[in-house]
Amino acid sequence: MTKRITVLATGGTIAGSGARGTGRGYTPGRIGVETLAAEARALGIAAELDTEDIAAIGSQNIDWALWERLHAHIAAALARDAAGVIVTHGTDTAEETAFLLDLTLAAGKPVVVVGAMRPADAVGSDGMRNFANAVRVAGDPAACGRGVLVVMGDEVFAASDVRKAATTSVDAFRGFPRGPIAAVTPSSLDWFGPPARAGEGARFAWPAALPQVDILAAYAGMGDCTVEALLGCGARGLVLEGMGQGNAPDAVIAALARAARGGVPVVRSSRVDQGYVDRNLEVDDDALGFVAARSHGPAKARILLQLLIASGITDPAAMQAHFDRR
Ligand code: ASP
Repeated sequence: MTKRITVLATGGTIAGSGARGTGRGYTPGRIGVETLAAEARALGIAAELDTEDIAAIGSQNIDWALWERLHAHIAAALARDAAGVIVTHGTDTAEETAFLLDLTLAAGKPVVVVGAMRPADAVGSDGMRNFANAVRVAGDPAACGRGVLVVMGDEVFAASDVRKAATTSVDAFRGFPRGPIAAVTPSSLDWFGPPARAGEGARFAWPAALPQVDILAAYAGMGDCTVEALLGCGARGLVLEGMGQGNAPDAVIAALARAARGGVPVVRSSRVDQGYVDRNLEVDDDALGFVAARSHGPAKARILLQLLIASGITDPAAMQAHFDRR
């Protein structure tokens, strides 16, 4: 039976145009989602696609208001007869949107975030291919119970693992700790294992607002003034994008410890691409009141910390349990 899939568009390069074949410059979010869907139908893609343009932006400009609208539209579509939902999205912040949705939706019907690295009118455009793959995934019953998924470059990633790892290549996404969880083409889909989250409800209720949480990038020779500046700007939580195992110069660690003592939660993550940030290795998290990001990179750590603060969970041990959870 043909599956009914809701497609919600937010913009990004998958809706970008103006590249004029070999040109470099283009504008994200220029093509309406119905154009994409009509092209898919003309190619014979077997699904009933209900489309809606939620926004037409480069995802670097995504904000709370759009996230809230998107969440509400997805929840409404899933409550109706949609077998799954596809969100077309810019790749820059696909990781953040996918992880926020993953933490605030039940792991039931498939919700698939898809983007493209090349605009529709560029040579070798990857948008329609990725979209066709997303339709294949969103219409597959075996996609249920896996949390929010990201489809890019013939691969399927779990939102909890995925990150953008290349600025221009069409093979731009990677996963940690898991790599892709399925291989997909418009006509084939191979899952590498069973759904890990079948029957799981939303981990967090959709919050009334998200608190200001800032990311602090560590570098050699860094001083503590940026910590003070962020606190002065109203940060209610801080994520350290540390070196190696979530490290920073002693003066920065001391300033962060003062912040944690003052009631501003601090999560240590790493600027390194892959690997865990564990507790109490080079930094005494127990003594300083920090949380270790574990497998979460800085962008995901920030989303999770925002949801924790919004939910009133600020005890370091309770926060750590959420960062430890897969
Ligand atoms: N800046 C664009 C965006 O994130 C890039 C892309 O879509 O690939 O919207």
